[in-house]
Amino acid sequence: MAVVGAGYVGLTTAACLADLGNDVAVVDVNREKIAQLKAHQVPFYEPGLSELVERNYRAGRLRFTTAYEDAGPGAEYAIIAVSTPEGEGGEADLSYVEAAATSIANCMDGPLVVINKSTVPPLTGDMVSNVLRKTKAGEAAAVVSNPEFLREGSAIQDFMHPDRVVIGSHDRGAAEKVALLYSTLEAPILITPNIYTAEMVKYGSNAFLAARISFINEIARICERVGADAKLVAEGMGLDKRIGPSFLDAGIGYGGSCFPKDVKALAALAERFDYHPELLHAVMAINRDQRMLVVDKLRECLEVLQGQVIGLFGLAFKPNTDDLREAPSIEIAKVLLAAGAAVRAYDPAAMEGSRRIMPDIEYMNGAYETAAGADAVVVVTEWNEFRYLDLGRMKSSMRKPVVIDGRNIYDPAVMRGHGFTYRGIGRE
Ligand code: NAD
Repeated sequence: MAVVGAGYVGLTTAACLADLGNDVAVVDVNREKIAQLKAHQVPFYEPGLSELVERNYRAGRLRFTTAYEDAGPGAEYAIIAVSTPEGEGGEADLSYVEAAATSIANCMDGPLVVINKSTVPPLTGDMVSNVLRKTKAGEAAAVVSNPEFLREGSAIQDFMHPDRVVIGSHDRGAAEKVALLYSTLEAPILITPNIYTAEMVKYGSNAFLAARISFINEIARICERVGADAKLVAEGMGLDKRIGPSFLDAGIGYGGSCFPKDVKALAALAERFDYHPELLHAVMAINRDQRMLVVDKLRECLEVLQGQVIGLFGLAFKPNTDDLREAPSIEIAKVLLAAGAAVRAYDPAAMEGSRRIMPDIEYMNGAYETAAGADAVVVVTEWNEFRYLDLGRMKSSMRKPVVIDGRNIYDPAVMRGHGFTYRGIGRE
């Protein structure tokens, strides 16, 4: 089989399917990425992925190429896992999917099941079918939607132990053939009788999770005003089986390569079909404002930002990844720099990428070095190593002991006990 796209989703999918015993060729147009993979380097940070890629590469089940024609021969499946970034009007930019489908069509040499794993709006499967049908060989291809739900940071675990596998196609036989790929995994498989339903499951899921985050952030803002503790409120809510505890952490809001663009794309899709999605717009507006809360709290504690040294704990959009796409850190750093503050930062995985996009930040070697001499520290990403610091050591090294905890990782009473001026989100 061929996997098109060697990113977080494509490479994880390829390595996991190879590990399940399949012969997998990964094709990517990015020459540098393929060269790195051939040199035994995974181009991004994902726990356990290097080892899995290496093992299957050595076993001869996994190979890498920039040429579609090298990946194609004899393949029964082609999995599209290319980027679907935000387009100009907020809609999903499908040009990479279209280009991948065109390249597949041009090198097909037999019946093929084309599986779309990229996150795409309903009707994209039909577009892929139309592209494939432009070539004689492409007429024999079946198109299946099989959205991916893995999370960066736990991608392998999520792929191998998914909550569910969703497969949709107008061609039931092709959908069942895709289900075979997952038959050894212990997961419910939902086959939808049309492709649009499967495509929509992914958007519905991501929009719902984003809505939970904005919901709890709205509750947190109310908590702050009435003197309630949002963390405990969420705990109390989450004990209700109908609600459940996940995605109820008040904080800086959602970021990353999926939620922001997927909620926007779903809203744009709805508008295109003459429906105004009130709730999705509120979810996005709350999230936009949420990022700036930590800056407001810094202003409240420091009065002026000009000339202050602000240390950021974490840069990646979430822990256990180096991904900086739509990371709140970028916007927060920009606003602080524009206000005349000196910004320094430390992240266990995202420093290299961050240096390229934010050269005006000073990069430090660890949390203690980031805090030493700073006027305030902002917890941006809740990496575990920030949770268990020697708080006494940190406090005594700071110029002013201000901590703005954008992820509520510290206990307010403990922080005050150490003499910090502490502000969490939805709790004082
Ligand atoms: P990515 O940007 O990490 O990787 C995409 C890869 O596709 C890149 O290496 C790029 O060079 C390659 N590519 C682009 N056009 C190509 C073409 N025509 N032919 C061959 N290769 C091409 O993206 P990602 O994070 O892996 O996401 C891929 C898709 O999966 C997106 O639609 C995303 O929304 C979805 N998704 C992502 C995640 C996640 O956590 N990252 C989770 C679920 C779903």
